Amino acid sequence: MTAILGGGLGGLSTGYYLLKNNMNSNNNLKLFLLEATNYCGGWIKSIRTKDYVFEQGPRTIRPKGLTGLNTLNMMQDLGLSEHIAPIKSDHPAANIRMIYVRNNLHTLPSNLMSVFTKSQPFSKPLIYALFNDIKSPYKILPDDSIYNFVERRFGKEIADYAISPMICGICAGDAKEISVKFLMKTLFEYEQNHGGVIKGLFKSFLKPKSDTDLDLSELAKKAQEEKWNVYTIKGGLETFPDTLQNHLIENNVNVSLNTKVNEIEFVDSSSVVLKQANGETHTANHVYSSIPAYALANLVKKQHPRLAQTLSDIPFVTVGIVNLYFDKDEPLIQPAFGFLVPPIENSPILGVVFDSCCIPDQKGTVLTVMLGGKWYKEKFGENATEKMLLEVALKEIVKILDIKIDPTAYHVNILKQCIPQYVIGHYERVAKIREYIASNNLPISLVGCSYDGVGINDVIYSAKQQVEENPCLQG
Ligand SMILES: Cc1cc2nc3c(=O)[nH]c(=O)nc-3n(C[C@H](O)[C@H](O)[C@H](O)COP(=O)(O)OP(=O)(O)OC[C@H]3O[C@@H](n4cnc5c(N)ncnc54)[C@H](O)[C@@H]3O)c2cc1C
Repeated sequence: MTAILGGGLGGLSTGYYLLKNNMNSNNNLKLFLLEATNYCGGWIKSIRTKDYVFEQGPRTIRPKGLTGLNTLNMMQDLGLSEHIAPIKSDHPAANIRMIYVRNNLHTLPSNLMSVFTKSQPFSKPLIYALFNDIKSPYKILPDDSIYNFVERRFGKEIADYAISPMICGICAGDAKEISVKFLMKTLFEYEQNHGGVIKGLFKSFLKPKSDTDLDLSELAKKAQEEKWNVYTIKGGLETFPDTLQNHLIENNVNVSLNTKVNEIEFVDSSSVVLKQANGETHTANHVYSSIPAYALANLVKKQHPRLAQTLSDIPFVTVGIVNLYFDKDEPLIQPAFGFLVPPIENSPILGVVFDSCCIPDQKGTVLTVMLGGKWYKEKFGENATEKMLLEVALKEIVKILDIKIDPTAYHVNILKQCIPQYVIGHYERVAKIREYIASNNLPISLVGCSYDGVGINDVIYSAKQQVEENPCLQG
């Protein structure tokens, strides 16, 4: 028996890859998945009505790179190709991304030409950042914050107005704490090995490129040919975990909802018992844990306090999500992806996504305001109510977007400890956790957003890798 702990995208994808590998071998895979809530999909949740879709968690997926193409392969395999709504590179949601600085919205440069012209809030054309990199000294470091790295190589304005809001948008985090390896591992290696990013870039041109060995599906090829920027799923992203869950059930995976595990007992290298508070137990030869690291820490602390401590050292942040629908024929916003607010502005909001521009088949104007993240407690305290977050969101919408009418519908959600923060030293910490597991012969693999990347593509790819790394464990 093989167990999957957690039915978010990480757990569901693990099931998908275990089934796929099993089809290629002649193993008789017996697989079960335990999910604490009454729903599979984790943070992916969509509220669908005939007029609008409110996404309470993620809304767009990137099609690019190895991990992006891998997800598209999975989408096609699950029969989701027809449901995909791409945003191509010439769409406003692809090339108009704004930041809110000093009481104004500014469009960030999105093409090569705009790098040569000065645009607010930057005091010089962005090309100057490259000169900065060439002339600046470098520092040999094991890791650094992404803010420090970008400030050192490209200047403070790029760190404040480009990278800091981007980090807010990706993980609701503080660029001054997040590891440079989270987004810029290769650029950091260029600096460490060659003394600068541009120098490293030139040297890398001389090296032969290694091709990925991923076979591309028709859908992945189409995304490349049509230059998709991002995509979403018609009717809401929730269709994706729903389809994955059905795929698992159709293939005889036993999916148990409302099944919260509260302790894991490792018996030996091929036996593990998952225990519920009501005394029920589930025995497996191996468990793939996709629950957040802090939650797993609680389950293993009795037998492995040192492992539990390292797992709980991975910090998470809370995000407030306010979805708003305005039933007006004329759009209340300009076509764009939305805007982010750099932390230096000290605003109560992280940013606003213009959903009616990014998600198809929406009537009127649909917006999502994101609040808190790294600054949640500082801005809203321990006991913020949904009403409080709604009031803050509406006030900011009036101030920034000049929308003075009341929303026709809204939904507020406080997503507690929803996004892991890959702070300085994260990758070394994850290596240490996996070393501990290997040296103690624990029959557990770690998947999900706590370890190998926080986005949808990362979580799916990590599941694939973990299943490939433990092929003998099935059956
Ligand atoms: C607000 C927000 C916006 C985002 N936007 C994007 C985006 O636009 N694009 C993108 O690519 N990514 C985005 N992400 C990231 C993406 O949502 C995550 O990478 C992904 O959903 C994480 O999946 P997971 O399975 O690792 O974790 P989770 O979704 O947290 O799933 C873990 C599951 O484990 C269950 N569980 C926990 N403890 C137990 C237990 N003891 N016993 C049994 N079950 C348990 C939980 O109930 C849950 O279902 C966003 C995330 C958030 C929060």
